Amino acid sequence: MGLKDPVVALIDSDFADCILERAIVERAGFRFADARENEERASILRMATGAIVQYTPVDEAFLSSAPNLRAVSTYGVGTDHIDLDISRLRGIEVLCVADYCTQEVADHTLALVLALIRRVFPLSTSVHDGHWATTGEFGNLRSLRDCTYSIIGFGRIGQAVAQRVAAFGARVLTYDPYASAESLAKLGVESVSLGQAFEADIISIHMPLTRETRGLINCRLLDRLPQDAVVVNVSRGEIVDQVALATAIASGKILAALDVLQNEPPLVGDIADLGPDTIVTPHAAWFSPSAERRVRESAATQVVKALGQIIIDKKRM
Ligand code: NAD
Repeated sequence: MGLKDPVVALIDSDFADCILERAIVERAGFRFADARENEERASILRMATGAIVQYTPVDEAFLSSAPNLRAVSTYGVGTDHIDLDISRLRGIEVLCVADYCTQEVADHTLALVLALIRRVFPLSTSVHDGHWATTGEFGNLRSLRDCTYSIIGFGRIGQAVAQRVAAFGARVLTYDPYASAESLAKLGVESVSLGQAFEADIISIHMPLTRETRGLINCRLLDRLPQDAVVVNVSRGEIVDQVALATAIASGKILAALDVLQNEPPLVGDIADLGPDTIVTPHAAWFSPSAERRVRESAATQVVKALGQIIIDKKRM
């Protein structure tokens, strides 16, 4: 048991199977246990040395039920469902997959932005409803080139978005207090304060959910936006005050597109509150078949590598 006979447990995932993960774990010489919908879940957790999770909160209660755990790997970039402090205190290595879907999320961001500024859905719906609109009815169709675009969070995804937006000829601003001068200069992006960023025509959000960013996008910031501004969130729902956002949308001041929500899937009424013109996608920005393969292979590979290293270090002691 424990490091003598390591077991890697798959705790949760919404992938159809776990063939990739099992193959990688077993090839490394470890046992693999699928704890999803398994009656033996509690005993699998008790013996697990490594774990792979997707959404399960890795908190005090979870870690208490897995006393042998030494490494936990999560499918994805964000670790907001993992209590990093408690994991550190218990000596558990936490691993995430950083760069498996940067281009997919950047593509999705632009798809949402363009759909909103070109009013793709309302125009298409009106044609399907039998109405062939004329110029005066098109509403505020805009060119991205004529817009100022603010990127909130200038990491991998933020920079991939900047490349795309710059190619459209828009003026690109960013708010990211930790962005390097080099990355800003390379992409010709202006660094501004959070307040200034919210004076732009288009905002897209690409920062992690942390203590600092939870609820950061609030009514004071949304009030600064110009009429017909567009807000796109593909990061984490809890970064935006959803009630404040719904209020700004209902006032007719802004348009929004969200790939992430405070509750996923949404609770009854959540979507209705956002109004019919808000585009909502089901946390799908990351997806492509190749991204799925990358994230699954990396999550499994990282946990077996970490356990392998822990075993080597223990033998040396
Ligand atoms: P990254 O770590 O490369 O970039 C995050 C950036 O946010 C960094 O540059 C960091 O300096 C900045 N940042 C941190 N705190 C900030 C703050 N308080 N204010 C402004 N900027 C701040 O991560 P990434 O790969 O670009 O991913 C960004 C986020 O996108 C992830 O944390 C995740 O939550 C989300 N994401 C969503 C999907 C999806 O399918 N919707 C997929 C992947 C990632």
